[in-house]
Amino acid sequence: MNQSNHRKRSVRRERILELLRGTKEHPTAEWVYEKLKKEYTDVSLGTVYRNLRILVEDGLAQSIQGGKSLDHFDADTSPHHHITCLQCGRVTDAPVTVNEEVFKMIEQITGYQVLLPQISVSGLCPDCQRQNEKKSM
Ligand SMILES: [Zn+2]
Ligand SMILES: [Zn+2]
Repeated sequence: MNQSNHRKRSVRRERILELLRGTKEHPTAEWVYEKLKKEYTDVSLGTVYRNLRILVEDGLAQSIQGGKSLDHFDADTSPHHHITCLQCGRVTDAPVTVNEEVFKMIEQITGYQVLLPQISVSGLCPDCQRQNEKKSM
C-alpha cells in the first residue's frame, strides 16, 4: 500500500500550505514556524520541517536552495525561475521566458533528464545593494 496516498489529513499541514500560498516571499521553515507558533503554541520547528517535506513530496510545494543554503519553500509548483540574494538569502521570482533549447543543451551535456526546467541565479538584492552603498560611504 502506498503510504503517501493514505496520508492522514492534517489541519496544521493545511495551514502551512495556506501560509505558503499567501506569500510570494519563498519563506524558510523558520518563517513558517514563527507564524504557526502564534496559532499552535505547542508546534515545533521539527514538525514544520516534516510537514513542509511532505508537501514537497506530495507535489503541493517545491523547495528552492536559498542563498544561505537554507531551504526556501514555494507553493507555486509550476516551473519558474528564481534569483537568490547571496547576502540576505532571500529568494525572488524571476518571471522571464527561457528558450527551451537551453534545457535540451543541459540534457545533452550532462546526460540528465530535465524534469523541472527552471533556472536559479544568485546575486545581490536591491536592499543589500543599498545597504552596502551606505556602509562604504
Ligand atoms: Zn539581499
Ligand atoms: Zn517562486
